[in-house]
Amino acid sequence: MFDTLQDRLQSAFKNLRGKGRLSEADIDAVAREIRVALLDADVAVSVVRDFIARIKERALGAEVSQSLNPAQQVIKIVNDELIQILGGETRRIRYAKNGPTVIMLAGLQGAGKTTLAGKLGLWLKEQGKSPMLVAADLQRPNAVTQLQVVGEQAGVTVYAPQPGNGVGDPVQVATAGLAEARRTLHDVVVVDTAGRLGIDAELMQQAADIRAAVDPDEVLFVIDAMIGQDAVVTAEAFLEGVDFTGVVLTKLDGDARGGAALSVRSITGRPIMFASTGEKLTDFDAFHPDRMAGRILD
Ligand code: GDP
Repeated sequence: MFDTLQDRLQSAFKNLRGKGRLSEADIDAVAREIRVALLDADVAVSVVRDFIARIKERALGAEVSQSLNPAQQVIKIVNDELIQILGGETRRIRYAKNGPTVIMLAGLQGAGKTTLAGKLGLWLKEQGKSPMLVAADLQRPNAVTQLQVVGEQAGVTVYAPQPGNGVGDPVQVATAGLAEARRTLHDVVVVDTAGRLGIDAELMQQAADIRAAVDPDEVLFVIDAMIGQDAVVTAEAFLEGVDFTGVVLTKLDGDARGGAALSVRSITGRPIMFASTGEKLTDFDAFHPDRMAGRILD
């Protein structure tokens, strides 16, 4: 991910090398190149517009620095602004003070929710927590089994629908799972929910109903970083339909253009909290805006 963007930015900066001082025309030229590079990487138009405006404003107002040449100065400004659009600080999970912390997952089918439930389970265990995964995705025929498989791989308990505990009704399954977690003293409950291939009113309603029933501490919107320009509509639809407290980017290992990663925070105002970088359970970590900016500019 970001290979092309990385090359394009490097070539934009290269034109500034050896310049003693940047004229307004130099700044305009580099800003134009950065703009095209971001748009070609599928970053949302509104995000690019604001980003470029800040880069230009800061580059024009930059003091002549003793320690940085003009090219380095522009790179520093771009780095700072990338960190800003990626959210600034790392946002950590807010654990409940009393009783189990409930983390609900929402997103389109194929975004990587079920895989993420396993990854998050393993990660939480490594943080010293005792998580339980709840299989409330009853839409996809294999989703429950798939969650049981990843749960087993991660060594994490999975609560799956049984006859009599709400088979066919994801809201009841989620509620029963939470009750079971309380009874068995698990301190974090991860609720996997159904997605559809596209945005759909019934799906949103189901996710909203589950949310209302389990009153989660965190709702994580899971988004495939490869979906390109569709990221904006999808994120906005989930924000309106379910609302969420944080974002998880998946498939950051892909070779698509990665614009979703750079747009979703600004579009939704919600922090990116985790990133998935592969199919293995360990291909997962907390999201660090500064490290991601560093990778893009490396
Ligand atoms: P769900 O429908 O949202 O539950 O999505 P799944 O968890 O079933 O994931 C859909 C597909 O994406 C599966 O084949 C996963 O192995 C794959 N997948 C999930 N996360 C990642 C990731 O970070 N990188 C890659 N390359 N594949 C992923």
